[in-house]
Amino acid sequence: MSKHSQTNAGAVLVVDLDAICNNWRALRARLGGAQCAAVVKADAYGLGAQRVAPALYRAGCRHFFVAHVDEAISLRPLLGADASLYALHGSPPGAEAEFPAHGVVPVLNSLRQLAAFRALAQRHGKALPAVLQVDTGMARLGLSAPELEQVVADAGLLQGVELKLVMSHLVSAEDPSSPTNRLQLERFRAALGRLPTVAASLANSSGIFLGPDYHFDLARPGAALYGVAPVGGADNPMQSVIRLRGKVIQTRSIDAGTAVGYNHRWTAAKPSRIATVAVGYADGYLRSLSNRGTAHFEGIPLPVVGNVSMDTITLDASAVPEDQLQEGSLIDLACPLNPVDAVAERAGTIGYEILTSLGNRYARSYLGGE
Ligand SMILES: *Cc1c(COP(=O)(O)O)cnc(C)c1O
Repeated sequence: MSKHSQTNAGAVLVVDLDAICNNWRALRARLGGAQCAAVVKADAYGLGAQRVAPALYRAGCRHFFVAHVDEAISLRPLLGADASLYALHGSPPGAEAEFPAHGVVPVLNSLRQLAAFRALAQRHGKALPAVLQVDTGMARLGLSAPELEQVVADAGLLQGVELKLVMSHLVSAEDPSSPTNRLQLERFRAALGRLPTVAASLANSSGIFLGPDYHFDLARPGAALYGVAPVGGADNPMQSVIRLRGKVIQTRSIDAGTAVGYNHRWTAAKPSRIATVAVGYADGYLRSLSNRGTAHFEGIPLPVVGNVSMDTITLDASAVPEDQLQEGSLIDLACPLNPVDAVAERAGTIGYEILTSLGNRYARSYLGGE
């Protein structure tokens, strides 16, 4: 790739669709007999669901999860009729009819959602497909154990609902030593034992790595598809997916004792060279990376010095010879050398938040995915 960008944007974001598809295939291979879905909510974790979902469909994926029904409706025309699209939040009150109208399957999370969907099926005069979520420890979405007992006790509550899947969600799957994993597995098995025999789904990305007990019939990976490490503290087996390069818009030499940026949070200890890059917290370069972030120029690490601004960051570029780094030069802000998880750790957050914060001012380009 060239040292200079051809765009007026402040940064260039390259998303490797082939790497996403390879990650999906690697997860599927790990699953053995179980099917592998793809979670493409939040615009495929900020990477562009309109590009990511069709690429995964071409790779063979047939199950897609989003959060909101509107996310599903916008993806539906891009996927073949044999693809299932599920909305994790289920239906907002009154919007139930959108689901059969658009070929989207709701995840029913409460007795209220179940009742409203059942009523819709009655009006349609036929069974309608849905997923039932049971809560096994997140206390966020899904039927509680007593609510599940009501469904078990009254078969009429599921009348007209064509149950495609029973699912639950893991609390801390990225930590294999957490006893919560096993506890949730046991609760999930118990819940399945109370319901009619139907396909089951428990694992997110990290859950796949907890072993075959957690695989059931369908896994729902998101983050690992996009290169985030699925197991905390272990080597990352996933391929890197993004490269984010910010553009230098000014360089300057400063004397020892010169302070840089808002509130003068950094002062040069020796004569230094500062490069100003056209990416800031408005682009998702989190302000918590002030005095903590690292960028790279042709593999040379350049620390972020001073506070992150709305539209710019300042780097100590003293390590690069002056004639090499100039206005227009591109600096790696996230790349295989400095992956999303490493950026997240410096920012005090998780890779998920780095990805979903990626700005919409970037010039985006996509590799592969055909
Ligand atoms: C977001 C989400 C997933 C995907 O989780 P990852 O950790 O990104 O793999 C799976 N299931 C549910 C219910 C989710 O909300």
